[in-house]
Amino acid sequence: MPIHNIKVKEYECAHCAYRWINRTNGKDGNIPLRCASCKRKNWNHGQANQIWPKENGLRRRINGFNTLYENDSYYSAHLKYLIGWDKGLCERFLNLEPRPTIQEMEEVIYSSPLQRYNNGSDFYRMQQKVPLEGKPGFFKKDLSGLIQDPKRLEKVIYNPDPNFISDYQKLVAEEAHIRQAVMTNIINSRAT
Ligand SMILES: [Zn+2]
Repeated sequence: MPIHNIKVKEYECAHCAYRWINRTNGKDGNIPLRCASCKRKNWNHGQANQIWPKENGLRRRINGFNTLYENDSYYSAHLKYLIGWDKGLCERFLNLEPRPTIQEMEEVIYSSPLQRYNNGSDFYRMQQKVPLEGKPGFFKKDLSGLIQDPKRLEKVIYNPDPNFISDYQKLVAEEAHIRQAVMTNIINSRAT
């Protein structure tokens, strides 16, 4: 009977430190779903339980959306209604088990048509901006709210209609809708 020297994959559980091999008829099996000893599912994700700085930063940004859209709708009840922000959504998203991946969080953050990727400097940089037609990635000042003053025709004023929604505000609402849809999709895709 021949004798073979072989290389074997050995697995080690991140929870109970049990080590085992998974081999049948001379072949490594699939990566095990559960620890062979304690039966826990994410036996190889010991590191995933640790939150790294980058992940932390992304989580903080998503957590800040509640304040972001509150600020956006501060002056306009109409816009607030249009944004329709679900205040519990970010928490439900961030509390997913297993936690949202960096890729999933980046998908939520970078889906902004206004390029508002953080809740600070981008918020100020993009205020009252709209895309420049025919030049993707470029923005210009939003002048959609400016109208001729009915009392003094030579004067330009900001539209005083409380129900008026500017092009910039429409984009903010669109951004909120996209982000909510992305988060909801990810939450639903985890439901088993
Ligand atoms: Zn184990």
